Amino acid sequence: MGFFSKDIKTLDDLFVHTLRDIYYAEKKIEKVLPNMADRASDVSLKDSFDRHRDQTGLHIERLEKVFEMYGAEAKTIGCPAIEGIIEEADEVSGDIDDDKVMDAALIAAAQAVEHYEMTRYGTLIAWARELGRNDCAEILEETLAEERATDQVLTNLAESRINLRSAA
Ligand code: FE
Ligand code: FE
Repeated sequence: MGFFSKDIKTLDDLFVHTLRDIYYAEKKIEKVLPNMADRASDVSLKDSFDRHRDQTGLHIERLEKVFEMYGAEAKTIGCPAIEGIIEEADEVSGDIDDDKVMDAALIAAAQAVEHYEMTRYGTLIAWARELGRNDCAEILEETLAEERATDQVLTNLAESRINLRSAA
C-alpha cells in the first residue's frame, strides 16, 4: 500500500496506518537484532544489541496496547523504509572482513534504524495528542525515550572506541 493510499482520509486513519507501519518495523527489527549481535565483535556492542532486542519486544507489546486502547486491530503494513535500511546494511556489511570495520558498519546501520524509529514515534506522539489521546501518547513516549537512549549508547560506543580503532 502506497503512502497516499485512498484508505487514508483522516488523521485518525493516518495515525492507525503509521502505528501499523512501525508495528511491522519493530517486528522486523526484533528478528534482525540477533544477527547483528552475532556479527558484532565488540562485547559492549553485542550486549547493546541483545539488550535492545529485549526492549524491542517491549515496544511491540506497547504498540499492541495502544492498538487496543485506540480500538484498532493490531496488524502490520509493509514498511519499505525499514526494509531498505536493513537491505543496505546487509549489502555494505557483506563485503567486510575486518572485525573493527564490521562493528563500525553495524553501529551505523543500527543508528539508521533507531533514527527511523524516533521519527515514527515522534510523529505518532504528536498525532495522538492532536487526536486527544494523551493516554496513547504517554505509552509511545516511553518507547521513544528508549530509542533515544539506545541511539546515545551507540554514539558513545562509536565515538569512544570503535571508530578510533577502525581508523588505526
Ligand atoms: Fe523499537
Ligand atoms: Fe530501536
